[in-house]
Amino acid sequence: MLICKTISEAKQILTTEQKNRTTIGFVPTMGALHEGHLALIRKARSDCNFVVVSIFVNPTQFNNREDFEKYPRIFESDIEKLRQSGSCDLLFMPNEEEMYPEPDTRYFELGYLEQIMEGKYRPGHFQGVVKIVTKLFDIINPHKAYFGKKDFQQLTIIKKIVRDFNYPIEIVECDIVRETNGLAMSSRNLRLSEDERNKASIIFKTLIQVKKWIDEKYSINEICQKVKTNIESVSPFQVEYVEVVDSQTLMPVNDISQHRSIHCCVAVFCNQVRLIDNIEILL
Ligand code: AMP
Repeated sequence: MLICKTISEAKQILTTEQKNRTTIGFVPTMGALHEGHLALIRKARSDCNFVVVSIFVNPTQFNNREDFEKYPRIFESDIEKLRQSGSCDLLFMPNEEEMYPEPDTRYFELGYLEQIMEGKYRPGHFQGVVKIVTKLFDIINPHKAYFGKKDFQQLTIIKKIVRDFNYPIEIVECDIVRETNGLAMSSRNLRLSEDERNKASIIFKTLIQVKKWIDEKYSINEICQKVKTNIESVSPFQVEYVEVVDSQTLMPVNDISQHRSIHCCVAVFCNQVRLIDNIEILL
């Protein structure tokens, strides 16, 4: 596994690979790698002959300074995990100066997609995500890029950006990887105590009831209220939002009969740690 920290080194290596007509797969991450990340990387390995992983804790996507500062940074153990996986050919680990030598003042028109859910509660978050992902796409020029459905709204926005800018990149969507108790794997889970991690199973236990509540003819408002009450019945969890949206447009769902697939998305605080999760429901 090659490791490089500068854009020029990465470009040099990738130019050679492109000349060799290699299929390049790319997995962008912020590190503190877990099985969710490794599943994306293994999928890239099975599809492509050259796999690039990036690790960069992107400051522009954090709207909360404390969240940025406390974001786990365990780069040595990440490198070890990647080596052991045998699935990464090039690890790109730039620093802030390399990615943002000067402020990136670009504005991306994301419209409605950044006014709801994560966009509403984390102002500017998706502008930061798109800044870094487009920079990384422009450096790596992958044929395929792998993203997790855990960040469902992010995935929708990345697909829009690829369409809007005609990036010749196939976006590969990967299923959410969960702990055995159902908790969606996340780097932020490292900030939970063992007791909190166990209790956090309430989030997925609640989400899997949504289909049943739909079948029982509860209204969407009632279902959102039930999700909130159920999760908050376990201390110290506090729901920031529950939304039921159309899987394609992310528009709020009122009349279920008008939709073929919907997502129920939640953001939940466990003290200072913010967790997100979602479930797709086919109708
Ligand atoms: P992050 O390091 O949190 O920015 O995540 C990097 C990529 O891994 C994103 O595409 C995430 O959606 C994906 N990812 C994170 N957690 C999971 C998970 N539990 N299951 C599947 N994909 C995930």
